[in-house]
Amino acid sequence: MRPIRPGDRGPAVTEIRTVLAGLDLLAPAAPDADDFDTHTERAVRAFQQSRGLSVDGRVGAETWRALDAARWRLGARTLYHAVPEPLTGEDVRSLQERLLEMGYDVGRADAIYGVRTSRAVAQFQREVGLTPDGSCGPHTMNALRRLGRKVVGGRPQWLRESDAIRQSGPTLVGRTVVIDPGHGGTDPGVVVPDGSLRWSEADLVHDLASRLEGRLAASGVRVQLTRGPTPDDCLPDVGRAELANSLGADVFISLHVDGHANPEAEGVATYHYGTDNGVTSATGERLAGLVQREIVARTGLRDCRTHAKAWDLLRLTRMPAVRVEVGYLTSPDDRARLTDPRFRDRVVDAIVAAVQRMYFPVERDVPTGSIDVSELRAVVAAGTVVD
Ligand SMILES: [Zn+2]
Repeated sequence: MRPIRPGDRGPAVTEIRTVLAGLDLLAPAAPDADDFDTHTERAVRAFQQSRGLSVDGRVGAETWRALDAARWRLGARTLYHAVPEPLTGEDVRSLQERLLEMGYDVGRADAIYGVRTSRAVAQFQREVGLTPDGSCGPHTMNALRRLGRKVVGGRPQWLRESDAIRQSGPTLVGRTVVIDPGHGGTDPGVVVPDGSLRWSEADLVHDLASRLEGRLAASGVRVQLTRGPTPDDCLPDVGRAELANSLGADVFISLHVDGHANPEAEGVATYHYGTDNGVTSATGERLAGLVQREIVARTGLRDCRTHAKAWDLLRLTRMPAVRVEVGYLTSPDDRARLTDPRFRDRVVDAIVAAVQRMYFPVERDVPTGSIDVSELRAVVAAGTVVD
């Protein structure tokens, strides 16, 4: 859909304003106010920021879905596992976060009432003596209110996730890594003309992805790309996340290059799942930190740091997932590097080293930039760590 943007009028704008007013982001106005004014734009930006969405002040498909889901407050409706179209919303996310805090395994707080959430609710109901039907109605809500507040502290799911990784040992052999070259098909991503040449993000990241595929495969990793070099259509992010989930991937790496109207914008940034209210994937955050530091150390790209985002791609993937924006195609400096295949090999070395370090126990981790990726396979086979 075309994004709804400042200056627009109509019933959709009224609806957006109503939801934003319900979230206290916008002063309540006349119910028929239908203009997307500057107050509305500011409220949309604040909402996007709070949800970890790209902040552009417009309501495109992703922001629309988030607004739609934000209407629901926990306790306002009965939640249950609906098939085939599961219930989604902020109330589901609140419930999942509450259950996670109490140590129940709901997976990720993804705001979708799926089988795992239903099972966790049933387990909670059994333990407090309610009928374990896996749905969350008034009785279960009461029990949660009575018990939920007492439990504070760690996020058991994230601890479980990092435990699972620690216990699985340092070897890469037999892991499944899904590499996601962004865009493709009808969507070339960032495109920059360069003399008689024309560089596109979709082509560059596919090249990076296939180099990375080769390196990881040589280390015994099972690798799957989310698309080929010239797909007919552009797979949406939701589809890419579903693909990684269906393959049972251990790690998900999405590759992009950035673009900006200002040619001075440059550098590398890495994104992992997280929201402003402190919910984060600890392993995703760790992987993002490793990828970011290795790339900065091995390539000299400017460090634009790591950031938590709640993008569909990161929210819906059930394994440590990162999205890397490897430099700006619109920056003459970054472009000169990105279009050099030797530079792309260094980026790939950095990512391989980061994936390897994910599986080193924290106390046995090695300094950034120190892993000789060409010797990685031997090192891993011998079960020792490079000093
Ligand atoms: Zn991109």
